[in-house]
Amino acid sequence: MLTLTFLGVGSAFAKRNYNSNCLFEFWEKPWQGDVPTKPPDDTLLVDFGVTGPMALYDLKDKPGFEYLSTPWKAINYPAIRKVFITHQHADHIGGLEEMALTNTFVFKDSKTGKPFKAELISTINILVNLWDHSLKGGLNTIQNRYALLQDYFFIRALICQPGKNQFHVGPYQFEIFPTDHVHIERKYDWPSYGLYVCDQQRGQSAFFSGDTRFDYPAYMQMMDKADVCFHDCQLFDQTDAVHASLNECLSLPEQLRKKTYLYHYGDNFEDKTWEKPMSNFKGFARPQIRYKLFQ
Ligand SMILES: [Zn+2]
Ligand SMILES: [Zn+2]
Repeated sequence: MLTLTFLGVGSAFAKRNYNSNCLFEFWEKPWQGDVPTKPPDDTLLVDFGVTGPMALYDLKDKPGFEYLSTPWKAINYPAIRKVFITHQHADHIGGLEEMALTNTFVFKDSKTGKPFKAELISTINILVNLWDHSLKGGLNTIQNRYALLQDYFFIRALICQPGKNQFHVGPYQFEIFPTDHVHIERKYDWPSYGLYVCDQQRGQSAFFSGDTRFDYPAYMQMMDKADVCFHDCQLFDQTDAVHASLNECLSLPEQLRKKTYLYHYGDNFEDKTWEKPMSNFKGFARPQIRYKLFQ
């Protein structure tokens, strides 16, 4: 069984919702109802932005998420086993320094002194840039010595090519695809990725766009096949945007809109203006609610 819980559903600059990061949880044995009776058998965090630590701190007090809390009411970071990074914007990576330092100092093995290390998954280009341009400043020195990314995480480097573009959580396959988010000179030259999640046994799948401009031709096949879709959306139109606008998303075929949740939206999401256009979709993705993807 696989579930998805958004830590937040906000845009990069939203203040009423946390950053659009999400937690996938896997259970060997499916459970019924709204609240699982035991912790998941594996966990995958997709992105961990600047608001990530506060979002996890809130989530740990919600029913069924108690395993994310330590006995002293802090975030139990070792409960997060895997982290996938879609791209390098701060709303997707800004919480990693706290996770790395907490796992290294608070959750180190008391006998061996070794840190707890989550598995950090992304493409090789993102992992290299993540360290060199974002994390190195705060993490390259531990008391009395230098440190590298692999001192804090087990690293799994993917390549966006068939056969090398996927990883698994339990039996579920997570396949990455490039997204058209920010250009340097041309499409895809600044790396960013989305996820296509498959339950191969049952022939079910879910589409998670990651941060992207509207690019229906690129996602059409995956969205068609998927049982549920989660798509980037900003609520305003903009020339040369780096996100899909609500109006662009409205141009999706009806059968796709009906199974699509929109996320990564701004703080004015309660404005009555959106009621009519949003009735064409499955709705706004909601924060800190478990969506059951596959039983
Ligand atoms: Zn973002
Ligand atoms: Zn972004």
